[in-house]
Amino acid sequence: MSSEIDAIRQAVLDGVRGEDLAALPVPDAARGALVRASEQEMFDGLPSEEKDPRKSVHVEEFPIPELAPDEALVAVMASSINFNTVWTSIFEPLPTFAFLKRLGRESVWGARHDQPFHVMGSDAAGVILRTGSAIRMWQPGDEVTIHCNYVDDQDPSAHDDSMLASNQRIWGFESNYGGLAELTVVKANQLMPKPRQLTWEEAAVNALTNSTSYRMIVSPNGAQMTQDQVVLVWGASGGIGAYACQYVLNGGGIPVGVVSNPQRAAVLHEMGVEHVIDRKAEGYRFWGDDGHQDQSEWRRFGKKIRELVGRDPDIVFEHPGRQTMGASVFVCKRGGMVITCAATSGYTIEYDNRYLWMNLKTIKGSHFANYREAYAANQLVAEGRIQPTLSKTFTLDETGEAAYEVHHNRHEGKLGVLCLAPEPGLGVSDPQRREELLPKITLFRRHQD
Ligand code: NAP
Repeated sequence: MSSEIDAIRQAVLDGVRGEDLAALPVPDAARGALVRASEQEMFDGLPSEEKDPRKSVHVEEFPIPELAPDEALVAVMASSINFNTVWTSIFEPLPTFAFLKRLGRESVWGARHDQPFHVMGSDAAGVILRTGSAIRMWQPGDEVTIHCNYVDDQDPSAHDDSMLASNQRIWGFESNYGGLAELTVVKANQLMPKPRQLTWEEAAVNALTNSTSYRMIVSPNGAQMTQDQVVLVWGASGGIGAYACQYVLNGGGIPVGVVSNPQRAAVLHEMGVEHVIDRKAEGYRFWGDDGHQDQSEWRRFGKKIRELVGRDPDIVFEHPGRQTMGASVFVCKRGGMVITCAATSGYTIEYDNRYLWMNLKTIKGSHFANYREAYAANQLVAEGRIQPTLSKTFTLDETGEAAYEVHHNRHEGKLGVLCLAPEPGLGVSDPQRREELLPKITLFRRHQD
């Protein structure tokens, strides 16, 4: 760590005022978790499971770019691993350097992102160090969390639902200078207030997955769940699933969570999810060895859901993709909705269309969240009505190891990464509220071995 970075870190830990933070020199370089363009072919020919983020992720210095007028430079206290960290680090479905090149062609400011390295990370909690000349609502010293919707607000197509903007990107995945670093550069419209009752690492894990689940379950842009609806949630103790379950419970719906082991079921039960299906224990095999789907297995799965809740799901929260989509379309209620934001197990999807059209079901695509949705989701965390799902915390140097755990489905909830925070547990500015919420805030950590 450079002496300038050390001084910034110490100033944040000491709680120095914004104007004093703004007076500290900013270094030319900082350390970050990055992949190298020169290594983007290193896993060619290997099956996905053998592509190892511990080999491709390097924690090293990168140059800090000049700040655009609408950007802020943020001292990152903590960040998190998302599945897109895994995609970047295993160069699947394609190396993210193609995204950086495209951004680089767009404008002078975009050109800064086209580098032979890609600093990853689409979540962060930290403190603003510098603001560009066009920033009005934020200042140095503000404690923030950062969401990853990266849009150009001078683009007219960004002014209804900004997720529909023609140049919408995910920061730290389709842009450079992401959150898994000591310093990050973000647009002003990515900033949100840090929830005061949370530590840095608890505050850092929410924005990407919480906002995604908010849009899918709550927003009019998603399924807009109403009270008493049954929602089937795949991967219900995972990154997006555990927030989806919280939204269903908060909104008076009935979640049916699917997981793959009893520990995960126990976390969900304590969260208040009564109906949990252990897919491994039930032994569902939706795909047969002959490469075709087995509709009797879809039926067995649907029967299990009916046994538990007495009816079919109004909404299916879908993201595993190829392995589950056939079953999701089948079990969804007549007139119901399968809402999907991903395809972790494969993106070429097969389902029986007869069950879709004859029963008037809808498949709806969803992707992250616009600023309003992300801000609302962050506000619910700040009010203690949605809880972080942090299960384990790593150091920045351990980013590759943490991504490896997520790649191999060995984690629950979210994995935090300490960037400038020297240890877990720091950054709380409302200890009384924290005390009131503590069992809920620590739910996922208490269930670790
Ligand atoms: P995660 O933390 O790894 O959780 C995924 C969960 O899915 C796991 O906990 C696992 O639960 C379950 N799962 C994995 N493979 C499965 C399979 N073959 N069949 C059934 N369930 C399976 O990941 P995440 O953060 O929740 O992200 C999930 C996916 O959504 C990723 O592909 C990610 O890239 C994507 N995503 C998209 C957006 C967006 O904006 N479009 C945002 C966030 C995430 P069990 O093993 O316990 O069943």
